[in-house]
Amino acid sequence: MASSTGITKRTVVVRTRAALRDALAAAPRPLGVVPTMGWLHAGHRSLMQRSRAADATTVVTIFVNPRQFGDPRDLEQYPRNEARDVAICEEEGVDLVFAPSVEEVYPLGFDTSIRVGAIAEPLEGTARPGHFDGVATVVAVLFNLVGAEHAYFGQKDAQQVLVVRQMARDLAIRTEVIACPTVREGDGLALSSRNVHLAPEERAAAPVLHRALTAARDAWAAGERSGDALRSRMREVLAGEPLANPDYVSVADLATLRELDRIDGPALLSLAVRLGSTRLIDNEPLP
Ligand code: AMP
Repeated sequence: MASSTGITKRTVVVRTRAALRDALAAAPRPLGVVPTMGWLHAGHRSLMQRSRAADATTVVTIFVNPRQFGDPRDLEQYPRNEARDVAICEEEGVDLVFAPSVEEVYPLGFDTSIRVGAIAEPLEGTARPGHFDGVATVVAVLFNLVGAEHAYFGQKDAQQVLVVRQMARDLAIRTEVIACPTVREGDGLALSSRNVHLAPEERAAAPVLHRALTAARDAWAAGERSGDALRSRMREVLAGEPLANPDYVSVADLATLRELDRIDGPALLSLAVRLGSTRLIDNEPLP
């Protein structure tokens, strides 16, 4: 935060539940939290900026949550650079970073898992069994530790927003879950920490996700209302990129994520695609 003296306010970094509690005791309200797994980029920055605009105190959590990874290699290879992340938080005027160890989040004897129901089942829930249990569990812990009025999540992980919202509502956690627009590169690729794993030719192919979504959106805008037709349109565009290996394409109800035969209300176009060993997801809400 730039003050009138031109001195940048330092971001305080805490690592334990106790230090977090102490740091938050006198923090001006309302409080906003941005949960992340680090390797911060402009998408994360946009969430911090939303909080800074609305909240008197902004907290960023940086925690690579082992419980939401199915594949141990994926967890091991997840990119990390805390010093760089803290510098970004500082640039964005973040007040507090909570960067706990695994043991601090899941102390010895931790034995609870939160499983959200129907909204967590399709799409990423089917493709990544157990993933949303891990997400719901860690977010519940973080929400309880931070006690923020607001939490900011990216629309890029659209199902995650719905799962976290359902969890918070059902467990009477009073943190409001706010979804923020997806930040993209100039060529349409949604920013993601995983983009760092893309080989140059995969990176060049990666905008095909956004092209597929845009093609389906254009068809919808031109009056197409058949779910199958829109799914086919996305598959067609993906098929034009030899490096792209589609996992799923979906045209679903925006609230329930049930696949739609016909679109006659708010819907979500979404897809998951592998490029080499990197799996990318993206989506486009309709309208
Ligand atoms: P992650 O560190 O990948 O767990 O992401 C932390 C938060 O940032 C989640 O709420 C994501 O949805 C959000 N996020 C990730 N990528 C983007 C993006 N390109 N635009 C906006 N938000 C994003």
